Amino acid sequence: MLLIKCKDCGKTIPAGYQQDRESFEATNFTEQLEKCPNCGNVKPYFKVNYFFKES
Ligand SMILES: [Zn+2]
Repeated sequence: MLLIKCKDCGKTIPAGYQQDRESFEATNFTEQLEKCPNCGNVKPYFKVNYFFKES
């Protein structure tokens, strides 16, 4: 699962944008708008902001 850290409240949240690791590494990623379920703020997130939850 891809996670992001909210730019406003700092909470780690599951990203709306989901891909498997291999596809994600290969993708030509620009930016995604993500809405934080904790504070409700929408911000653009870049590839560097995403990380995988180890399962
Ligand atoms: Zn937030």
